[in-house]
Amino acid sequence: MPRPILATIHSQALRQNLARARAAAPDARVWAIVKANAYGHGIERVFEGLRGADGFALLDLEEAQRVRRLGWRGPILLLEGVFELRDLELCSRLDLWHTVHCDEQIDMLATHKTNVPHRVFLKMNSGMNRLGFTPQRYRAAWTRLNALPQVDEISLMTHFSDADGQRGIAAQMAVFAAVTRDLPGERSLSNSAATLRYPPGARDASADPAGYVASDWIRPGIAIYGSAPDFPEHTAADWGLAPGMTLASKIIATQNLLPGDSVGYSSTFIAEQPMRIGVVACGYADGYPRICPSGTPVLVNGVRTRTVGRVSMDMLSVDLTPLADAGFGSEVTLWGRAANGVVLGIDEVAQCAGTVGYELMCALAPRVPVSVADAD
Ligand SMILES: *Cc1c(COP(=O)(O)O)cnc(C)c1O
Repeated sequence: MPRPILATIHSQALRQNLARARAAAPDARVWAIVKANAYGHGIERVFEGLRGADGFALLDLEEAQRVRRLGWRGPILLLEGVFELRDLELCSRLDLWHTVHCDEQIDMLATHKTNVPHRVFLKMNSGMNRLGFTPQRYRAAWTRLNALPQVDEISLMTHFSDADGQRGIAAQMAVFAAVTRDLPGERSLSNSAATLRYPPGARDASADPAGYVASDWIRPGIAIYGSAPDFPEHTAADWGLAPGMTLASKIIATQNLLPGDSVGYSSTFIAEQPMRIGVVACGYADGYPRICPSGTPVLVNGVRTRTVGRVSMDMLSVDLTPLADAGFGSEVTLWGRAANGVVLGIDEVAQCAGTVGYELMCALAPRVPVSVADAD
């Protein structure tokens, strides 16, 4: 028998989360962001749950090919555009839409030989200072692109740095609105945080309502996988999002401790009273963060308890004191939904690790078997 660890992808939850994002921006079309192998879930595994999206956005040409191989004929957007000239041949062949964020990409397009002009998303650096043309140079880039026979429609795009936090989106949106005011083309601005926190109906109080730019295409990623973009201000449940992934295992041993007994490497946990612990077949080699301290929440038989001691490569330990009936073979939910329906949000575990749900999803280890559940 294989180790009892298993990740489950919940197609129905992905569908629900996609619908939740759509409801926040009912007039917009939705890019389901599936970069990084669908945030660690697996492109092939999320496809069924996300096929109701209007398009798939990602970074990697190999991932774009995988989406086409699944039979998807609708839009695919390369969020970082092309990296070298020959990537454009694949864009022509597979009908991939691509971001244009720098002069070098316009140079490549200008020398590209194609019968079919490309749909491009021209990216503005409105303050994030990662990819895109500065507001001062944006219109010149648009004019240059617009003159190329290789280019069909130009859409306008930017990305927010602080949609999940204090600063909000008002300043970047104002810059984008001012520079693009009279340019034709569809707009794409909002990631998950901006989609949920700043829907068109509930404008950012600090923004000039006249300067609000609604996305024609929203770009939710983390929300469709069921994690809150702004945890702990909001939880996934607050936003009506359900976990897209459950990581579960079982108890493979129990130990009875006396006061003074320690647990695991470096004896970081010492029992203060008699207690019973369970040893779980899940460790950092499965993608569970080693940095999670004693006290990180975990579900055993769908009941909340805590980890004790260091996470090791293949195992971690949990406190069974509140769970008289639990023992060898009991279900352990590291994050996601237990069999009894109780949910442990990935964001809570991520917070204990000093990181975000994104990183835990993406770090699910290749050795963990994954199944797809349709209805639950
Ligand atoms: C990853 C990404 C998104 C999705 O962000 P989330 O925070 O996961 O919603 C949207 N737009 C761009 C350009 C991205 O790179």
